Amino acid sequence: MNTRTGQLYIVSAPSGAGKSSLLNALLERVDNLVVSVSHTTRQPRPGEQDGVHYHFTPIDVFRQQVADGNFLEYAQVFDNYYGTSRLSVDALRDAGKDVILEIDWQGAQQVRECAEAVTSIFILPPSVAALNQRLHGRGQDSEETIQRRMRDARSEMSHYPEYDYLIINDDFDTALAELTCIFYSARLKLAPQIQQHKTLLDALVG
Ligand code: 5GP
Repeated sequence: MNTRTGQLYIVSAPSGAGKSSLLNALLERVDNLVVSVSHTTRQPRPGEQDGVHYHFTPIDVFRQQVADGNFLEYAQVFDNYYGTSRLSVDALRDAGKDVILEIDWQGAQQVRECAEAVTSIFILPPSVAALNQRLHGRGQDSEETIQRRMRDARSEMSHYPEYDYLIINDDFDTALAELTCIFYSARLKLAPQIQQHKTLLDALVG
């Protein structure tokens, strides 16, 4: 078996669409797949660990990283900045890992412009009521923040046509199965298969 360069995926969703739970379950099912840990200037929420959920980064350090060209993409989302380290994504891909970027539509646009091949997936909630309920269900944010997030969610969701795949997260298990299918079918495409199985293909038909 030959080594392969890992593939790049983008998963976007409004907050409250269940993206994180789906991705956590996906990582348990699909091997050789990781989610890139982003840098953010926002404060950690209860339970969030530096280096695990995000690299929590002071604004001046973040600005320096932007100036140094360290980010594959970065964007302001809500009141904070978020960015993906170019170096860490390249290292993971060079090690043969498929990498998921859990980023917003602005970051997705930037990655599409500079990455040679990227598969992008948008996850939507099944209804406005479900979105509302899920945003309240978190119990971590004020009513004002929740209302603002509803408005931001609408704006984020308006970008779904820019993506390759669309998943409606109504039933969790169904959405997870659909997501899993996308990753397996992307891996089975001709170009990555040729890269991974070059020795075999050469022996068979070379
Ligand atoms: P949260 O603060 O709730 O974890 O994330 C808020 C939003 O920021 C989500 O839509 C998430 O996808 C987005 N986000 C997280 N990391 C990045 C990143 O590295 N780049 C961009 N562009 N967006 C990100």
